[in-house]
Formats: sequence, C-alpha cells, structure tokens
Amino acid sequence: MKKIALHWQILIGMVLGVLVGLVFTQFEGGKEIVQDWIKPFGKIFINALKLIAVPLILASLIKGVSDLKDISKLSKMGGRTIGLYLITTIVAVSIGLMLVNVIKPGNSISEDTRQELVQNYSGDAMKYKEEADKQKSSGPLQALVDIVPDNIFGASTENKNMLQVIFFAIFFGIGLILIPEKKAKPVKNFFDGFNEVILKMIDLIMLAAPYGVFALLAALVVESPSIDLFKALVWYAFTVILGLILMITFYNIIVWMIAKKNPSTFLKGISPAQLLAFSTSSSAATLPVTMERVTEHLGVDEEVSSFVLPIGATINMDGTSLYQAVAAVFIAQAFGMDLSFGVQLGIIATATLASIGSAAVPGAGMVMLVIVLGQAGIPEAGLALIFAIDRPLDMCRTTVNVTGDASVSMLVAKSLGKLHKPKVKEWDDNYHKK
Ligand code: ASP
Repeated sequence: MKKIALHWQILIGMVLGVLVGLVFTQFEGGKEIVQDWIKPFGKIFINALKLIAVPLILASLIKGVSDLKDISKLSKMGGRTIGLYLITTIVAVSIGLMLVNVIKPGNSISEDTRQELVQNYSGDAMKYKEEADKQKSSGPLQALVDIVPDNIFGASTENKNMLQVIFFAIFFGIGLILIPEKKAKPVKNFFDGFNEVILKMIDLIMLAAPYGVFALLAALVVESPSIDLFKALVWYAFTVILGLILMITFYNIIVWMIAKKNPSTFLKGISPAQLLAFSTSSSAATLPVTMERVTEHLGVDEEVSSFVLPIGATINMDGTSLYQAVAAVFIAQAFGMDLSFGVQLGIIATATLASIGSAAVPGAGMVMLVIVLGQAGIPEAGLALIFAIDRPLDMCRTTVNVTGDASVSMLVAKSLGKLHKPKVKEWDDNYHKK
C-alpha cells in the first residue's frame, strides 16, 4: 500500500466498504455482522480523530497567536477570516435559493409520497425539533454567552464546546504576547513541542484512515433506509448536490485567482480531508486532518491555519447553509406554499446564522433547519420529508464545509504573505534516523 497516494487508499477503502455493505445486506443476519464486527472499527477511528481535536486547538492556537507577536496582526487576521466566512456563506445560500427556485424539486412530490414520508419519519423529525426548541428558548445573546466558558477544564471535556476552547486559547495566546519574552519563552516552547506531538499523532491516525472509512461506509450501507424513498427525493437531492458542486467550483476559482494555486494542486492537497469529511459527516472530527493537509500540503503558515481552521470548523458551514436554504424552500414547495421574495431574503439571513450555530457533527444542520423553517413560516413537520435522505446529503455538505474552511485559510494566508511552499512531513521522518 505504501506507494499509493493517501487519497487513493482512502477511496479504495470507501469503495470496498460500500461493496461489503451491499453484500452483507443480501443475507439474513448480515447487517448484524457488520454492526458487531466492522462498525466498531469505524467508531474507534472517529474517536481517535475527535480525541485529537481539543488538544490540537489548544496547542496550535496558543502557539499560533503567540507567534504573531502583535495584537493588531491578530485583529487583522480575525477581521479577514470572519469577513470571508460571511461572504462564502452568503454565496452558498444564494446559490441554493437560486437552484431550488429554478429546479422546483418540491413540485415533483405527490400527495401520497408526502403523506408516506411524514408518516414514516415524523417521530424522528420530532426529536430534531425538540433539540432545536431547546436552543430557541434561550435569549438573543445566549450564543455570545456560550463562547466564554466559566471553567476551562469543564469546557475541554466536551467536544461540542470547541468555541469555548478557541476563546480560551486565543485569550491565553494574547496573554503570552503581553508578558516579557523571558517568561513567555518556556511556555511557548512547551506548546510548540506539544503541537508537534499532536501533528505526529494525526499522521499516525491517518495510516488507519483507509480501514476506518471502510468500516464507516460498510456500516452506513447496511443501516440505510430502503431505496424506494430515496427515489421520491431524487430531485431534491439533485438540487442540493448540484449546489454543492457549484460551491466546490467556486472555491477552486477563488483559490486559483487569489491564492494562485491551481485546482489540481488544491484538490490533491485537500482531498484526504474531503474524503474523511464525507465518511465521518463531521467537520470537527475532520479538523485535525484539515489542519495537517492545509499546513503541510498547501503551504498555509501555521500561524494562519491554527486560527482560521478551528474557527471555520465551528462557524463556517457553507454546505450546511446551502442545504438549509434548499431544504426550506423544497418543503414549502411540497406543501404547496408560495414563498415571497421577502421571505426568501429572510431565509438567507436565518440560514447564514443557523449554519454558524450548527455544531460540527453529523445531522446538526438538520436541527438548525427547524429554526430556518420556523422563521419562514414553513411547517416544521416538513422535516420528515427530507429525513430519509439526510445522511448522504450530510456527507456531501460536510465535504463542502471543510473545503470552504481550507479555501478561506488559503486566501487569508495569501493576503498576509503567509502562503509558502509546502513542506510535507511523513510520520516516520525522524524514526529512521535513530
Ligand atoms: N455534519 C455537518 C458538519 O459537521 C453539519 C451539518 O450540516 O449537519 O459540518
């Protein structure tokens, strides 16, 4: 396997996973065998990736911010990052809205199919609604309050508190810039070394990636619902996927024009992260790999990637916002509602905010979709319509989410003169020398 490039190895793992999944669905008891004996390896793989996320953010962000040596540089980078994230999200929602209005996938849903879907999935949809209601019931500034943890150890024990860990790391980094160099040095050296160790651990985990995705996809295939319902949703899925493809094209164009990296270099550099995003449906689990690829294979300075990517993984979800816009209008169409231009503008605003608020885990986009639907006056029961096909679309939109973060990190790096020639490190670089 040594000679084959990593993204091919992962692709082979994915294809074999799908094939094995298909074979095992053919006979009685096959599903259970996959669930008992293959799926756990996928879970172990995702756990290992998630395990790295919090220490990685802490170490790399503290190192990255303190390396800046100057707080004004931090605010410049922060401003550009947030600005670009907002722009790409608005582009995504607009593409989604445009496509769903032109293709009108909701009109192809017959009354019978609609009732069947609502009947089959309303239970599942209710769970999402309850979760969204919890988030809705808090005050308008709750999102801001949630960023500041009252206990850093508490915050770092929960992967969903990533923004709190980011806040602490930036704050700590600023403190480090402001103390005398002599005192700061040992602390910086410590986090520097710590960061190197974490990056090496990512290299090691990536050795298992082809096997991990194999297990994940085999399990997904045996657990997927019947293909019949997929058929009813084919136009909806087509609209979302077409939008996502347009987004990937958009990223390639801006990276090419602004960061001057051609699409094949960009895609080759980022593809292992994309494939993992696809297989895990989680930008957070993919974050360690995105960081490694962007830094080592695309040449983004660590000062930039350590800042832009963790923030992107939590707040920038272009794929999710595009999907939310399409899904909202699709549901409205299926219920025979006509949405005015004003309501659609409202969807741009809420889908942008909802994607910022979505957690970087599987299915999170659907929870926040409830809020988009509520704001636009679309029946929330409509969630049941799109439930059957949410997981495959989640896989696709997560891939776009991760690609968006990587693209923005390249643009920010370019604008700050921090895009270098890539320097690839292998897992055994130092090992042979001993
Ligand atoms: N799974 C997505 C992510 O992690 C979020 C979502 O759209 O559900 O980026």
